[in-house]
Amino acid sequence: MENCIFCKIAAGEIPSDKVYEDEDMLVFRDIRPQAKVHCLCVPKTHFATLAEMDGAQAEVLKKCLMKIPDIAGRLGLDGGYRLIVNQGKDAGQTVFHLHIHILGGQDLGEKLL
Ligand code: AMP
Repeated sequence: MENCIFCKIAAGEIPSDKVYEDEDMLVFRDIRPQAKVHCLCVPKTHFATLAEMDGAQAEVLKKCLMKIPDIAGRLGLDGGYRLIVNQGKDAGQTVFHLHIHILGGQDLGEKLL
């Protein structure tokens, strides 16, 4: 997808602080971390929101969800972590390429969920 920053990161055109990569997904550290550990799990295939997702993309998202516990282990998030998937502008979505925030490395409290 032209002009999509996460497509460019996934294609290696823009550098990222990569934590994990395979043929389906890329996980890299967020440039504006909201917790001690803050990574983004990004499916390599472009779709903006869950509303746009087709069956093949749903399979990729499933692979992402199944891989995240392993990635969390690599990141040392043994005490737990929070996943956030912002959907649309009211949720504060700023990059319209679906991504899963992985937050942890500290007590996140109970304020947001
Ligand atoms: P969202 O607000 O849910 O769309 O989240 C987008 C996230 O992408 C924000 O937390 C940004 O800090 C992060 N972000 C934007 N550009 C980059 C980048 N080049 N490298 C890493 N994270 C980025």
